[in-house]
Amino acid sequence: MTIADAVRITAPTLLNRPLRLLIDGEWVEGRGQPLTLLNPSTGRQLITSASADESDVDRAVAAARNAFDNGPWSRMAPAERALLIYRLADALEDAKDELARLETLNCGKPLAVARDFEVTAAVSTLRYNAGWATKLNGETRDISLPGDWQAFTLRQALGVAGLIVPWNVPLAIAVSKLAPALAAGCTVVLKPAELTPLTAVRLGELIQEVGFPPGVVNIIQGLGHVAGQRLVDHPDVDKVSFTGSTAVGKRLLCSSAGNLKRLSLELGGKSPVVIYPDADLDKAIPGAAMSIFANTGQVCAAGSRLYVHSDVADEVIGGITRIAESMRIGPGLDPATQLGPIISEAQRDRVLQYIESGIEDGAEVTTGGAAVEGPGFFLQPTVLCNTAPKMRVVREEIFGPVLSVATFDDADSITDTVARANDTDYGLSSAIWTRDISRAMKFVRGIKAGNVRVNASGGMDPNMPFGGSKQSGWGHENGREGVEAFTELKSVAIKID
Ligand code: NAD
Repeated sequence: MTIADAVRITAPTLLNRPLRLLIDGEWVEGRGQPLTLLNPSTGRQLITSASADESDVDRAVAAARNAFDNGPWSRMAPAERALLIYRLADALEDAKDELARLETLNCGKPLAVARDFEVTAAVSTLRYNAGWATKLNGETRDISLPGDWQAFTLRQALGVAGLIVPWNVPLAIAVSKLAPALAAGCTVVLKPAELTPLTAVRLGELIQEVGFPPGVVNIIQGLGHVAGQRLVDHPDVDKVSFTGSTAVGKRLLCSSAGNLKRLSLELGGKSPVVIYPDADLDKAIPGAAMSIFANTGQVCAAGSRLYVHSDVADEVIGGITRIAESMRIGPGLDPATQLGPIISEAQRDRVLQYIESGIEDGAEVTTGGAAVEGPGFFLQPTVLCNTAPKMRVVREEIFGPVLSVATFDDADSITDTVARANDTDYGLSSAIWTRDISRAMKFVRGIKAGNVRVNASGGMDPNMPFGGSKQSGWGHENGREGVEAFTELKSVAIKID
């Protein structure tokens, strides 16, 4: 069966409907330039989607504002809000195969990854946050002012939240913002990435089917500098939760200043993985390989800088190289595929330019380094050895399946190794592989990164806060912190006569 056949046979019915914007409970045409959506596995057009211009954003924000200020959402009992979020989780679970196919067609990732990681994560995130709707609270405070006082904090929903999502894990990231926002009692305007809005549109249909009141969730596909920018500028938006590149995140700081809206930023990374000779290499080698090659390296927390002890460097680099060379590259709908395409031709060219710059700077390619001939935006998984701290491939986020490798030896203390791992503007994730608990703890304490793994890669859970330090972001998603980020506190003191 050809991929064209597979797309025809498995094409979800969403692809037969016009893709419109969800504003105030209605599917409406957008006034922006329509978006052309491609299948990155073939390079061919899938469908076009409506897109929002500034006036569409204004309508969506007005609908969300009205649903918050005057509508039922902020006054609904928390248990009722929780029930709707649980129902949405069930609806996503029932639509798991369809959502996974949409994600695979739009992003290229292997179908099993889309279904068993991404849609599954979205379902768990909804259920986890539904539970928070009934458990958010302020607390009483004993204060020492003269007289008799009763003081407490009141935790309330922030208001209208703008949610801006990137293209690499579209459904799971959209839901990681939507679920806590709704649990907290906010209304939302969700802007998916212009390349990958398919699952967001289907999510909108499911939101309507389970009975969310109009205006509580508005979904506006659109361009970043048009729809996204207007959302961030908008004076009636109380909070923006943004996941995307550090460059755009920095720009949003100024744009959001107009009404000093709250801003959460989940940004880029250049995350270190450190392997010591005492590690269980049977686990560390595939762990390090998948940390950079999963989702074709298009992962913010990808372990893109490897520091390996010279005693085991040949074994580790050889092992990762063998894994890279054995990975089956292909369209996500092919069940044998382990590595899908890069999202777009432009992004693949960008990754190839980074590989070129690494070679010019003196790095050595042990495997990969080239595009895969034929249709689609495929690229070989690539390992660059002998890298040096000043190279661009070591300093900048590539967002592709490219691992830079450097070695250290016994002359380097753990403090030296932590310093090398910290030699980056970013601070999103990190990992160390060692059986020495003291060494591991020194790494955990010294590393400047929001997420640390010991003898593991991955390991995300809705109850574990996820966020970056340094230029990887502000704030956290997931956990209590994730839902509290959509609330604010009021201090109340009552004088009792
Ligand atoms: P991007 O910054 O180009 O775009 C992200 C989103 O922002 C898109 O929806 C885009 O339309 C929108 N946008 C662009 N310009 C805007 C503007 N001026 N105003 C408002 N919105 C605007 O990022 P991308 O290329 O889609 O995604 C890749 C980046 O996302 C990488 O840097 C990656 O590390 C990061 N990312 C971070 C996390 C995390 O949790 N830290 C997770 C996934 C991806």
